[in-house]
This record gives sequence, C-alpha cells and structure tokens, in this order.
Amino acid sequence: MKIGVLALQGAVAEHIRMLEEAGATAVPVKKVEELEDLDGLVIPGGESTTISKLMHKYGFMEAIRQFGQAKKPIFGTCAGAILLANRINGQDDFHLGLMDIKVERNAFGRQKESFEVSLPIAGVASDFPAVFIRAPYIMEVAGNGEILSKYEEKIVAARQGQYLAAAFHPELTEDFRMHKYFLDMVKEYRGEKVQA
Ligand code: GLN
Repeated sequence: MKIGVLALQGAVAEHIRMLEEAGATAVPVKKVEELEDLDGLVIPGGESTTISKLMHKYGFMEAIRQFGQAKKPIFGTCAGAILLANRINGQDDFHLGLMDIKVERNAFGRQKESFEVSLPIAGVASDFPAVFIRAPYIMEVAGNGEILSKYEEKIVAARQGQYLAAAFHPELTEDFRMHKYFLDMVKEYRGEKVQA
C-alpha cells in the first residue's frame, strides 16, 4: 500500500512517519505525476490559504479532485480538512470541495490556540490524544457523512465514503491508530478485506 503526503507546506515528515508505523509505504508528493501510483493521499495541516495557492500553482486542484472521485481515499488534517470541505463559514469560495462538510476556521478561541485533549473517536479509539493548533471545527456533516468525534459539542472528526477529516493533528503524537484507520479505508477501497 503506497500513500502520498501532499508536501507543499506543513507537517509532512510527521505524517510519513506515522503512516509507515501503521504499515504503509509513504512518500512526499510534490508533483502531480506522483499521484499516479498512490492508493491514498494525506493532506496535512499548515495554512489552508497558503496550501491552496500552491495547489493551484502546481496543478493539484483538479488532479486531487480526480484522485478522490476515482474513489481513492483522502485524509485531511486541520488545514487539510478545510481544503476538503465544500463549505467554509463566512466565505463564498471553497478549495477542493470534495467532502460535504461545512467548516469554521480558527474555531477555538485565542486562549486555546494550541491544546491537547483525550477524545473518543468512533472506530478508532476511546482515548485518542488530539492536538489542536489554531484548529477549525466542522459545523455540519451532510449527505452520507458520519460524525466520528466531538469536542465540547463541536464536531472534530468526520468521514464520508473515501474522505476522512480531522480538525486536530494525529501526526503530532506517538499514537498511529488514526492513521491505521485511514489505511483500513484504503484497503476497503482497494477491495481488500479489513481485519478486525
Ligand atoms: N488555521 C489554519 C487554517 O485555517 C489551520 C491550522 C492548522 O492546520 N494547524 O488553515
């Protein structure tokens, strides 16, 4: 299983390490051609507007939309979740628009710019260490989407088919259970049986 991590900005090396610990081969993706032989893609945290600009510049917008529409799983963390969303609160535009969720950027007040909490995440863990850094939250999960986790009544993880979004940074801890969950999604979409 080969997973790419979009390497335009953000926590790339950390995701690669976690994906490898969870059992995949992981590579940084800097050029559109590198998407070709991948089974799944991670879009890391960083600054969504900056990553979006670079995605346009290097031709990733359309290429990643096609990747997702070809039913290849995509996992967006923090800024990556904002990039996946088809609605951003207070903005008329969106970036990839692949996932039917509405997000609010920088949703946890100033005094809480960065914090870690233990969260239950459906199908992943009852005690996942979630690191939030100027994090968004998910205001709405529509269509056939599924809420996986909430923190203080706010949705912070969701899945819709081949798409997975987390408001926090699962790559900044030693816990790779969320990456493992994503790899199970990839296996599912490759038609392999996922072991319980
Ligand atoms: N605040 C950032 C944004 O809106 C996301 C922060 C992050 O990825 N840690 O893009």
